[in-house]
Amino acid sequence: TFQALLASKTGDKITTRVVSLSEQDLMPGDVVVDVDYSNVNYKDAMAITGRAEVIRQFPLIPGIDFAGTVRTSSYPGIAAGDRVVANGWGLSQTHHGGYAQQARVKGEWLVKLPAALSTKDAMAIGTAGYTAMLSVLALEHGGLTPQHGDVLVTGANGGVGSIAIALLSGLGYQVVASTGRLEEGGYLRKLGAAEIIDRRTLSEPGAPIARERWAGAVDSVGSHTLANVLAQTKYRGVVTACGLAQGTDLPASVLPFILRNVTLAGIDSVNAPQQVRIEAWSRLARDLDLDKLAQATHVVGLAEVPAAVERLFAGKVQGRTVVDVNA
Ligand code: NAP
Repeated sequence: TFQALLASKTGDKITTRVVSLSEQDLMPGDVVVDVDYSNVNYKDAMAITGRAEVIRQFPLIPGIDFAGTVRTSSYPGIAAGDRVVANGWGLSQTHHGGYAQQARVKGEWLVKLPAALSTKDAMAIGTAGYTAMLSVLALEHGGLTPQHGDVLVTGANGGVGSIAIALLSGLGYQVVASTGRLEEGGYLRKLGAAEIIDRRTLSEPGAPIARERWAGAVDSVGSHTLANVLAQTKYRGVVTACGLAQGTDLPASVLPFILRNVTLAGIDSVNAPQQVRIEAWSRLARDLDLDKLAQATHVVGLAEVPAAVERLFAGKVQGRTVVDVNA
């Protein structure tokens, strides 16, 4: 048997508890993984609280990602002993996720971990960090280089934001961090932020086009924030959108696109093709400073996940929360 956090629904209310399960309780798949770590992302918080309909069938083990070692595999190219990571796909939606000591999934959902990353590093990165990397790849694809000027990161203290700052500063960009927690400036500077701005300067309705300020931006906030970022983006600048922490709306105009040739690149981590995932994980292994990653990480056990989710929604979590499923 193994331990898992199981989510059940009674009426409208979702509850979670740690239970003992056995391999027969897992869903179909061609690879069984001994999970070492999972983590807590914004989407996990929405799933467990029911703030958004992430979990489509109950009871289900939540956790949108995990890293561990393959126990058995009938999938070509993946063998017992391989260290693997899984993000997104059906995890925590229609398939049991990462908050368990064991997972059984389709082999095509797995990426083999680069040698430089431990399974703990992989979950300190997690979906949030991998999404930050997808955002950096999109900035590069749009032609951005450090010579073009300042890059803005919104939601700076969050998971995507923290890792985006570490990645971009490591690559030589001048990074400006936008946050509602100015008192955490020391942490953001350690990650590599050169300048810190108050997120309130971006969160209210603004002009459709404004003074050019950003060569590029990684936005995980959406709504007025993203609209204002677009309005302030320089000629031929690139902005990525992955999140909705302020809202799902985008009250913007076309002016940044038709006057300044600004590119807005969408970022989805859940259904990203395998090739993109492999590139993102290999770039994370190459570009992310693991000391900075450790500074942005704290560890909890399975039973502490619900409390970690409360802290995340209260805006009290900094960086990344790793879940040690064997703790
Ligand atoms: P997180 O750790 O909770 O970070 C979100 C950060 O956004 C917070 O730490 C906060 O930063 C800022 N924020 C929160 N509420 C805000 C508001 N009302 N206005 C402005 N800023 C606000 O979450 P995460 O895991 O990094 O995810 C960030 C976002 O990206 C989420 O919306 C998530 O759903 C999305 N996401 C999408 C994908 C994808 O595949 N597209 C993948 C991963 C994440 P400060 O305290 O510094 O202000």
